Amino acid sequence: MHEAARETSKYDRIQSILINLYVFVDRRGVAGLRNDIIDLLAEQRGSGWPLLSGSTERVGIAFSCLPSNSTLCRYLIDEATFCWDGKLAMIEHLQDLPTEFTVEAMKATLKYTKKPDDVYMPDWRSRICMLHDHADDVEKTRCAAAHAVWFDKMIKMQRMEPVKV
Ligand SMILES: [Zn+2]
Repeated sequence: MHEAARETSKYDRIQSILINLYVFVDRRGVAGLRNDIIDLLAEQRGSGWPLLSGSTERVGIAFSCLPSNSTLCRYLIDEATFCWDGKLAMIEHLQDLPTEFTVEAMKATLKYTKKPDDVYMPDWRSRICMLHDHADDVEKTRCAAAHAVWFDKMIKMQRMEPVKV
């Protein structure tokens, strides 16, 4: 197997495990681990990982096993909105994606393309707590404060690099 293909296969496997782990902890109601998975996905965006949303199977699992307003589904829509381009192989398989995902990604893409970059950024970069599950506003405020350094580094990024704190 070619080295690049081996790497892609490795990341595909890790990402599939993360999706399945998220579904499992969602059913168990483990909000903290759900939030940790979202943080990990946000940090790795642009680090060379394939797009999480670049697999019909992964998107299909997320949208069939989770409520469409779950943070992972929202992350997938955000990622498609900001990261998909014409070179993505999955474009040939759009018909295999869940309709809800495709419709929401299309809506978000149309809104995004009408605004300058500094006005509209993905939630995973500018306000990660929008993709977290918090019991209440107190917990959300506490979490945002704990992510202060993380936010500072994320907000300054121009591309989709990972964040190291
Ligand atoms: Zn949070």
